[in-house]
Amino acid sequence: MTGIPAPFYTRMRKLLGSEFAALAEALNRPPVHGVRFNTLKVDREQIDRLEFPNLKPVPWCPAGFTFSTVAGDKRLGRHPYHAAGIYYLQDPSAMAVAEAAAPQPGERVLDLAAAPGGKATHLASLMNNQGLLVANEINPRRVWDLAENLERWGATNVTITNDSPEKLAAKLPGFFDVVVVDAPCSGEGMFRKSAAARAEWMPALVTGCALRQGRILSDAAELVRPGGRLVYSTCTFSPEENEGVIGRFLEQHAQFKITPSSLHEYFAPGNPTWASLPPDHPTRHTMRLWPHRLQGEGHFIAVLQKKEGPPPAVLNAFDHHFPDKETVHRAAEWAAPTLNTLPWERQNLHLYKDQLYQLPQALPDLTGVRLIRPGWWLGTLKKKRFEPSHSLALTLKREMANNPVDLRPNDPQTAAYLRGELLESAGPDGWVLVTVDGFGLGWGKRVNGRVKNHYPKGLRRTS
Ligand code: SAM
Repeated sequence: MTGIPAPFYTRMRKLLGSEFAALAEALNRPPVHGVRFNTLKVDREQIDRLEFPNLKPVPWCPAGFTFSTVAGDKRLGRHPYHAAGIYYLQDPSAMAVAEAAAPQPGERVLDLAAAPGGKATHLASLMNNQGLLVANEINPRRVWDLAENLERWGATNVTITNDSPEKLAAKLPGFFDVVVVDAPCSGEGMFRKSAAARAEWMPALVTGCALRQGRILSDAAELVRPGGRLVYSTCTFSPEENEGVIGRFLEQHAQFKITPSSLHEYFAPGNPTWASLPPDHPTRHTMRLWPHRLQGEGHFIAVLQKKEGPPPAVLNAFDHHFPDKETVHRAAEWAAPTLNTLPWERQNLHLYKDQLYQLPQALPDLTGVRLIRPGWWLGTLKKKRFEPSHSLALTLKREMANNPVDLRPNDPQTAAYLRGELLESAGPDGWVLVTVDGFGLGWGKRVNGRVKNHYPKGLRRTS
């Protein structure tokens, strides 16, 4: 197995001096396991009732916990609660980014480099389904991991795009209250978690990443409204990618300044001198998360604010294609026996080809941007029938469904359902929400006491 690269140690020894031994020792310990609960679905009381091994609160994230590794990350990744979007397994340090961004319900928020979705799911929970979250990922393969994780999360105010920061900046100037740039980096903070990070690291990677981060940040700056916030984070220690990138950004973007974050008390400050900046340079107000000082991996966070200024031009609205009356009727006709309340808002329905969506509020014109999901995907019109999407099931709770199939996590039927097998369940014929402990897990269709499995084929488990 690849070890931690020697030139990395040499550099860190030089930077940290007497503190280096503590870092080196921490990097030889196993990584910390973290879990963040989905506050769109569970509250603190419910979390306390879940059978998790030895949860300890993460001080900077109310929904975050570290847990004992006895049960292991792998088992928790396969637990039915994971399939129901009740939690996300995440390094506790990574939980600080969305907390630092502190999006408010109703705001317009962009996660510019969002896959696989750790920060995006967290931002979505903090926004509580109010306002607009655009989750963008440039990589056409990784964007589908993002879509899958966000679908499980069950937020209803998210648009997923697959484009470059440059394209978005040209299309949506000054549009967002908050832009998060969780930048691609050399990954030194992930060394003890990821063999790939150790194997891929080399000094030239650090230099290349710093250049790319500078370009991404410049585009991100265009996207922030006057008075809005720009949050930059990396999971690396190298000063070039952290204080260095932010120092250069501030030099070239006079309308931004670093703003104090309420999270500062938990973390170490940035060190401007490591990037050849004067000791009193504003980058000392950035935050460094060190694995030898806290329970988590290595991270860096800078919260920047754009100066107030004249409001940017109002953008055109999204090219909203309202479904025809018959489509609306078909969807409502499906919902009537299946659900006891209509979960969507009629005025925000949008039809794209045969797929029905609910658009988030205030969605701007995205013509020319590669769209993966314009909004909350509700279902598909098939030969004039409405067929519900998996995304719809993942936003529902048992109280909203008529005649659901209620399963418990350890029930053999739950594992069978996740493998795509038929279930036995008495009740009226028709579509049924399958739940685990009351949380929507997927759909089934009951005929004569047998429930045909509609769990998506691509998600079915083989064992
Ligand atoms: N925010 C994600 C999360 O919390 O799960 C992790 C993001 S990861 C650190 C950085 C992402 O930036 C990767 O998904 C990568 O594909 C993307 N990326 C790579 N080059 C990029 C570029 N030039 N512009 C924007 N994003 C880029």
